[in-house]
Amino acid sequence: MNLILLGPPGAGKGSQGKSLAEKYNIPQISTGDILRAAVRDKTDLGIKAKSYMDKGALVPDNLVVEIVAERLKKSDCNDGFILDGFPRNILQAEAVERMLAQFSKRIDHVINIEVSRKEIVKRLSGRRVCRNCGEGYHIIFNPPLDDKKCDKCGGELYQREDDREDTIETRMKVYEEQTAPLIDFYKKKDFLVSIDGIGGFKDITEKIVNAIVAR
Ligand code: AMP
Repeated sequence: MNLILLGPPGAGKGSQGKSLAEKYNIPQISTGDILRAAVRDKTDLGIKAKSYMDKGALVPDNLVVEIVAERLKKSDCNDGFILDGFPRNILQAEAVERMLAQFSKRIDHVINIEVSRKEIVKRLSGRRVCRNCGEGYHIIFNPPLDDKKCDKCGGELYQREDDREDTIETRMKVYEEQTAPLIDFYKKKDFLVSIDGIGGFKDITEKIVNAIVAR
């Protein structure tokens, strides 16, 4: 099962992707997570990507396409994978099709998680992440027991540089201009199912699973 999770920043692609990856026992491939790890480890990729990420801009396509191409070659993707945060524009979508065609594979499902702009700003500005294990929290909707520490591992919680309110505006603009056109791109191919991303976490997972089963 080769799945793409589409949607604006803060739609819940990361957390839903994690839950689906566990359910179907396939890897979740998040280009955002891979890039943040590279920035943290100060690798060549991380050094090149950091300034784009801090501004809320897209990292150049050649860098991101290369990451995904390498990742999809690994054997844990043989039974399927979940792409989260990739593709982010038409060029990347075409690149993933070419990559998969090399292994006689294709995308099976594209789930578009819909959330309004107002809700996104609320979600992103309150988001906190554990620096150690990556666990996500929200200061209002899912607060940690201690506002500075991760409930799971005790790691330090931080606000992503790009979750600050001024950067959220740029990310939304980038989403609307570059990523939203993918909705029509995948609709035309008849791959796309749109899901309302407002509601309880488990209900949304269930809607996604039902959409996968129904196709
Ligand atoms: P995310 O965690 O998916 O919101 O990604 C965080 C940031 O990483 C984005 O704002 C971009 O700067 C960068 N990024 C993640 N995925 C991509 C991608 N597919 N193409 C370009 N930049 C990306």
